[in-house]
Amino acid sequence: MGDNINVEAIFAENVFTVATMREYLPEAVFSEVMDIRARGGELPLKTADVVANAMKDWAVSKGATHFTHWFQPLTGITAEKHNAFISHPDSEGKCLQEFSGKELIKGEADASSFPSGGLRATFEARGYTAWDMTSPAFLKEDAVGTILCIPTAFCSYKGEALDMKTPLLRSMEAVSTQAIRIVRLFGNTTATKVTASVGPEQEYFLVDREKYLQREDLVFAGRTLFGAPAPKGQELDDHYYGTIQERIGAFMNDLNVELWRLGVTAKTQHNEAAPAQHELAPIYETANIAMDHNQLTMEIMKNVANRHGLACLLHEKPFKGVNGSGKHDNWSLNTDDGYNLLEPGDTPNENIQFLLVLACILKAVDVHADLLRQSASCPGNDLRLGASEAPPAIISVFLGEQLEDVVRQLIETGSASKLISGSKLKTGVSTIPDFEIEATDRNRTSPFAFTGNKFEFRSVGSSDSIGSPNTVLNTIVAESFCEAADILEKAEDFNSAVHDLIKQYLTEHQRIIFNGDGYSEKWVEEAAKRGLPNLKSMVDAVDTIKQEKAVKLYEKFGIFTRAELESRAEVLYENYARTINIEAHAMTSMASKQIIPAVMAYAGSLADTVNSMKAAGVEPLVPAKLLNQINEDLTEMQSALEIMKNHRKTGIALSSQKERAFYFKDYVVPAMEALRAPADRLEKVVDREYWPMPTYAELMFEV
Ligand code: ADP
Ligand code: MG
Repeated sequence: MGDNINVEAIFAENVFTVATMREYLPEAVFSEVMDIRARGGELPLKTADVVANAMKDWAVSKGATHFTHWFQPLTGITAEKHNAFISHPDSEGKCLQEFSGKELIKGEADASSFPSGGLRATFEARGYTAWDMTSPAFLKEDAVGTILCIPTAFCSYKGEALDMKTPLLRSMEAVSTQAIRIVRLFGNTTATKVTASVGPEQEYFLVDREKYLQREDLVFAGRTLFGAPAPKGQELDDHYYGTIQERIGAFMNDLNVELWRLGVTAKTQHNEAAPAQHELAPIYETANIAMDHNQLTMEIMKNVANRHGLACLLHEKPFKGVNGSGKHDNWSLNTDDGYNLLEPGDTPNENIQFLLVLACILKAVDVHADLLRQSASCPGNDLRLGASEAPPAIISVFLGEQLEDVVRQLIETGSASKLISGSKLKTGVSTIPDFEIEATDRNRTSPFAFTGNKFEFRSVGSSDSIGSPNTVLNTIVAESFCEAADILEKAEDFNSAVHDLIKQYLTEHQRIIFNGDGYSEKWVEEAAKRGLPNLKSMVDAVDTIKQEKAVKLYEKFGIFTRAELESRAEVLYENYARTINIEAHAMTSMASKQIIPAVMAYAGSLADTVNSMKAAGVEPLVPAKLLNQINEDLTEMQSALEIMKNHRKTGIALSSQKERAFYFKDYVVPAMEALRAPADRLEKVVDREYWPMPTYAELMFEV
């Protein structure tokens, strides 16, 4: 307790930072690397050799024995294959440790077992990993030892992207190029690059590991597939921001230290709305690094939890009836000369560059709301989006009262002369000073909200990679910046052209703005009237990436080719059906091997009671009634199980990925619900002594 942690000393001690690089590299090599990192281009092999050797020396000095190219295939998690530094022993039998530039820059992965959606024919199973030198190498320490991890992109033999990172990097370049055109129009001559910055808030649940291991659904599916509600849920709002319990505190403490050592700026931590739910947010950073760090965060959360006898659940909806988990993706654009393009300043109504950027983003989100929605979809998120807790599946933008008023004025008159200002917060306590409050309150129901100097995309699922959402954001905004710049660069009178364009974009795309309650039924109707897409499930959203509109967008900016998009759609369909199939399997096993036998045993003991009461000459009113009720639910369960098993078989037999995915969504998922309902009713009446697994109350309240 209360160990002294010297944060400044441990921060990034396991990262090959710029400072470490400067220390380990000859000055000329260091400058060359920094230059290429900033401007792009290829590192000559000779230089790469020097860098690799320096990395190895540093890693070995910290106990590393292996290196790995660390990448993010379309499984949504990370992949690694370790290689020891040892080389062939010399004639005296002595062995040196080596790491070459070639090994640093390029790796070959026999990648036939990663999802490719048909991009790689089996005869060319090779995949390549290529060093992303903009994200620093780091050391992972665990039971296998200390491993030097090189962040890489993962591509096929022909250079097609097989991962989450390649498209993100491509989109970052696209939005940078187009954003530079915009700032040039406003007289900025010094910026050379615009960086997409991202801060993902990670929500998660912690449960006791022993109890976790007693539930096949948690072990195999990451969520509970059965479970009656606990007597208490989140209705008292006493968990949100509540005092952090000792066991959880010890976990958070360890987690922070591990993350800090890896250069992850773990910043905020608190209890979330649901019992056993928590959140961690880092300080925002460049999008690709934020993505790497978020993957590491998720991995380390799981490891640290294990060490503390806990299990970390990253699933979007581990428990029915309480809030699920998301990953709010905070996003902004920053020039390398220090300006945030989303900073409205004190007088946003007069900040023309900001208003143009805002108008372009509104246009982008309106035109490509379907892509944005798709980017935040995964099987688990289907249980969250639109289920009256998290943002709805309908994409809309929340601007807040002040900006919305500015937009209204611009649409009506072409200029905004008035600004609704913030007011003083008066506490009525003389010892607490009054202070200025923002003119914008928060709206927790909006999927895409302007929050001061960034947008917060709240639809993303807690287990999902932030690669897709940020790739989409960067690309769609690159497109609208490009279209605006095409017009404005040619304008004779820039000032009037830019005013006209802002007014035009805002007028044409105002339907995407919504400041009301996103959870209400009314909004669903209103959104339909406005023509906004409402793609209810992941499966419904997949084909958006194959439409002509999307293909044209992605090909224009070199993010995805048509073939890459088609392959991704295949992977998504496949992933959905496989996920539901695993869930159905787990349910079958739990129902037939655990729940039904337990219920029969309890029914047997009830029957004994009925008989012995009868023998004793009393009418067994209560046990007989209970026995009947249990018998009915048990019968319903058995037949629901058979129906679900048949649907699963039929679904699996379908040959097209798309048909299979739709079949699982339309038939298997409802059949799973039909199986769960009687089981949950039974859980409420069966003696706890007989129930074969930890209950919701035990999982969420006895951590
Ligand atoms: P909230 O009040 O929304 O829960 P948090 O502090 O939990 O806020 O998280 C906000 C996240 O947004 C943090 O990761 C923070 O670093 C990030 N953030 C702040 N400013 C920006 C910005 N300009 N661009 C991108 N992300 C940002
Ligand atoms: Mg937060």
